[in-house]
Amino acid sequence: MDTLTPEHRSWLMSRIRSVDTKPEMFVRAVLHRAGYRYGLHCGDLPGRPDVVLRARGLAIEVRGCFWHHHPGCPAATIPHSRHAWWVAKLRRNASRDARHVRELLDAGWKLLVVWECFLGGSSPAAREAQARVLLGRVAALDAAARRRVDVLSAADAAAPGRASRRPLLSERAALDALLDPGFGMR
Ligand SMILES: [Zn+2]
Repeated sequence: MDTLTPEHRSWLMSRIRSVDTKPEMFVRAVLHRAGYRYGLHCGDLPGRPDVVLRARGLAIEVRGCFWHHHPGCPAATIPHSRHAWWVAKLRRNASRDARHVRELLDAGWKLLVVWECFLGGSSPAAREAQARVLLGRVAALDAAARRRVDVLSAADAAAPGRASRRPLLSERAALDALLDPGFGMR
């Protein structure tokens, strides 16, 4: 018997689709090669973060720009057909993401959100730049106080030098950066 509500089923499907996706595999491979050891999709933490460096209090989420509606990103489109349904659906996703970020930070965790567009280029040079920025930002978060956040997107992959000098976000700034004002989430 199928006891799932439609909402739960669609949530479940979005999780299944997002498990072991290519961008996440790249992030894991880079971290592993650099000597980091981590847990995956830890169900005891809000939002089941994709990669969890538990001893360091650091969680990493790799987010699809469409499904998680990356604010200001060209990939964060809203389909024309069934537009209102999509707006409601994507708004729910963003709302859930925001709640999980708050809960993680409240529990003292640090968080790195890697938007899929950060990993857009797949040439060896692009991959190398992405790996360098990623490891730099993980190290910066590791060295930082609790409740710090960083967000990596296409702009950081395009300007790795600038990305590596950027300050980490405070809890407040992180929520501002992660929420789409157009959705009225704040
Ligand atoms: Zn994006």
